Amino acid sequence: MDPAANLRLTIDTAAIADNWRRLAAMSGGATCGAAVKADGYGLGAQAVVDALARAGCRDVFIASWSEAAALATPAGTRLAVLHGVQDGEMATALASDAVPVLNTPAQVAAWAAAAPGRACDVMIDTGMNRLGLTPADAALLDGLTIDTLHSHLACADTAADPMNARQLAAFRAVAAAVPARRRALANSAGIALGTDYAFDLTRPGLAIYGGVPCSALGGLRQVVAIHARLIQVRDVPEGATVGYGATWRAPHRTRVGVLNLGYADGYWRGFADRGRAWAGDVACPVIGRVSMDLVMVDLGRADAGEGDWLAIDFDLPAAAAASGLSQYELLTGLGHRYSRDYA
Ligand SMILES: *Cc1c(COP(=O)(O)O)cnc(C)c1O
Repeated sequence: MDPAANLRLTIDTAAIADNWRRLAAMSGGATCGAAVKADGYGLGAQAVVDALARAGCRDVFIASWSEAAALATPAGTRLAVLHGVQDGEMATALASDAVPVLNTPAQVAAWAAAAPGRACDVMIDTGMNRLGLTPADAALLDGLTIDTLHSHLACADTAADPMNARQLAAFRAVAAAVPARRRALANSAGIALGTDYAFDLTRPGLAIYGGVPCSALGGLRQVVAIHARLIQVRDVPEGATVGYGATWRAPHRTRVGVLNLGYADGYWRGFADRGRAWAGDVACPVIGRVSMDLVMVDLGRADAGEGDWLAIDFDLPAAAAASGLSQYELLTGLGHRYSRDYA
């Protein structure tokens, strides 16, 4: 048996399913899919896909063929590979049940030659200049069997940004000219822009995992909880310092807890002097720098000693504001040293 980790990630799969149902309802008449790339935004793609399949999700998006190969796809779930099919990946793609989202003229030509008549997805770039064919390239799609025609919004988390309406108009124009079974544009924040943006299928990611990309998506359930163990407790006298760089100096005699959590666990340096742990209802602020495997907190009057577990503040919007990192970075950075409990 593995020795127990002194660091625990609790992942609430019922909250994942509830968040997805809420996004599905907000998608109006459109089908709601799920972005599960980067190992389910760091939470474990298989557990996420299984929970979403039980909730009724049938469309799953991942980045690469290696992510596809790592998943046991539930019956009835359709996997689409957002990065398309690169040189050297065609045999893998043809042998897979997953569908490529073709992004370049070369990918379109290679797919048409290798798999004539076989359905694929296509990404159109409507102004983000990341992945996808230009609207002018859409003429190359003649004769291709397209299941879903996609585009992706650059500024959906800022509802008032005029880029949203420009991308919507550009996508509508391409969608009117290119035959496809379905059309898809909206990520999490795109769903909050309203059903004009929903088309036939939506592709939320962050909000499923409890992230809040914009105020219209408030009230989602928090999915992740972190608990770390106090592996040492010490009394630090007034005037002494704590941690690397001796950046924190005790203003008075202080009970300091050393937690089994560090930047190698995705608890990044931005939490130095800004993060917080909880011992019951006593807040214990992070003091000094975050080490690779450790972080120190001021235990104050908390009734907590060596061996006890503290809850780490990881409410995503608040943790992002405190640390200067995005909610996406906080989730995908969580690392591999946690024991993971799926509740
Ligand atoms: C990651 C991704 C999504 C999901 O975006 P969120 O902001 O996490 O909701 C949707 N579509 C594409 C193409 C993506 O790459």
